[in-house]
Amino acid sequence: MAPTAQVLTAPGQDRRGDGGGGEVRKPAVRCHPALSSEGKASIRGVVGQLLAATGKDKDLVSLGVGDASVHACFRRGGEFAADAVAGAARSGEFDCYAPSHGCPAARRAVADHLSAGARHRTRESDVFMTVGGTGAITAITTVLGGAPGANILLPRPGFAPYESACELVGAEPRFYDLLPRRGWEADLAGVRALADGATAAIVIINPNNPCGAVYSVQHLIQIAETARDLGIPVIADEIYAHMVFGGSKFIPMATYAHIAPIITIGGISKRFMVPGWRLGWLAFCDPNGTLKHVRTATEMLLNVTSGPASIIQAAVPKILTHEHNEFHLNVVDLLESAADALYKRINQIEALQCYSKPHGSMFMMVEINTSLLSGIADDMDFARELINEESVLVLPGFVLGLKNWVRIFYGAPINQILEACDRIESFCQRRACQSKLSKNKF
Ligand code: PLP
Repeated sequence: MAPTAQVLTAPGQDRRGDGGGGEVRKPAVRCHPALSSEGKASIRGVVGQLLAATGKDKDLVSLGVGDASVHACFRRGGEFAADAVAGAARSGEFDCYAPSHGCPAARRAVADHLSAGARHRTRESDVFMTVGGTGAITAITTVLGGAPGANILLPRPGFAPYESACELVGAEPRFYDLLPRRGWEADLAGVRALADGATAAIVIINPNNPCGAVYSVQHLIQIAETARDLGIPVIADEIYAHMVFGGSKFIPMATYAHIAPIITIGGISKRFMVPGWRLGWLAFCDPNGTLKHVRTATEMLLNVTSGPASIIQAAVPKILTHEHNEFHLNVVDLLESAADALYKRINQIEALQCYSKPHGSMFMMVEINTSLLSGIADDMDFARELINEESVLVLPGFVLGLKNWVRIFYGAPINQILEACDRIESFCQRRACQSKLSKNKF
C-alpha cells in the first residue's frame, strides 16, 4: 500500500490551506520535551559558558572536566592498550559487525576480570558490552526506567547523565542525599522514605564521582540490605573501580549479590585512560535469579541499538590482563599526591571547606561560604569570577544537585594542582569580606 501523505500543522493552525489560498503551512514537528533548549543545565553547557569567560592573562588550569588522559603523566606505561587495538586493526579480523551483546572474547575477559577473587562468579553471558559507561547508563535506565510510572533513586550530588537518561525514558529521578559529614555515605533512611512500589532501582557510584568517597564493607552491606528490603536491584556504577588510595580498598558491590541483585556498570575509560575509545559494560550478578526478565529486556534493547567498535572490543582481553601493575600504580600515586595537596590547601582557605579527604576517583567536593566572599552570590558566580580572574576552571555544584559547592577534578599534574591552589587562594583573599571573617569557617 502506498504511504498516505500527512500534512502536519502547528498546534492551533488551520489545516485547510491547500496551496491555493496562499497560506503557508508550518510543520508541527515537535521534539522530546526533555531535549528542549530551555531545559536544565548540562555539564558541557555550563563548562562551555565558563570557558567563554576565561581571562586573558594566565594559562588555563582546567579542573572542571574529568579527563586525566589529556596529561601525558597519567598515560605513562599505557602503550599496551594502543598496541592491542593496533594489532586488532591490522589483523583485519575485526572489521565486521560485532555481535549485539558484545564480542564473546571481550565479554569473557570482562567476566574473568570481575570474577577474579570475587565471592560470586560472573559468566560471559552476564556481561553486555556498551558504548562507554554512558552506554551502560542509558541501556539500564531504558530497561528499568521505561516501565510506566517507574522511578529510579539517584545520589545527590551525582552524575548528571543518570537524571537525563531517566527523563528521556519518562522515568522519575528521585534523589537521595550523600552526607558530607559522614564521608559522603548514602542517607539510607532517606532512601527508604523515597522508595515506593514503582521504584525500579537504586544507583550508587563507588568510588564516587563527584565526592571522592570509597565505601566501606559495612556501608555496602547496608546498601544491599536496603535494596533487599525495598525489593529492588542496585545499579553499581564502578567506572572508577580500583582507583583508590590512602589505605582504602575497593570492594565491588557484587560481593553482596546474595543480599540483593547487582547490576554493575564498568568500563576502560577511567582506569586505562582511554575515555575516547568508548568501551564500557553492564554486568549482572544475580545469584538468586530474580533479574532474568531484566536481562532478557537488556538483550532485546541491545539487539536494536549499537555497541562499541569491534577493534576496541578485540583489544579488551589484552587490556584487562593483570600485567599492567606499574601503569596502574603510577596513576594511583599521581591521584593520591594531587588529592592530598588539594585537600590540604583548600582547607587552609577561609571561605572553602572540604569535609572529607577523597580516597578514590578523581574528584573532590568543596563547600563555598559565599557570605565570606564579596560579589559572589552562588557557586556559578564563584566559578565564573574564578575563571575570569584566575583562569582556573572548576565545576559549579548546582549542575550536580548541590548549590554553593564546587567540584574540583584532581586528575592533573601536581604542578597544575598547586598552581590552581595558589590562584584560588589569591582569588578568595581578594574577595574576602574582612568584616565577616571569623574563626569558624562554617
Ligand atoms: N559514571 C560515572 C560516575 C562517570 O563519572 C562517568 C564519566 O565521567 C561515566 C559513568 C561514563 O563513563 P564513560 O566515559 O565510559 O562513558
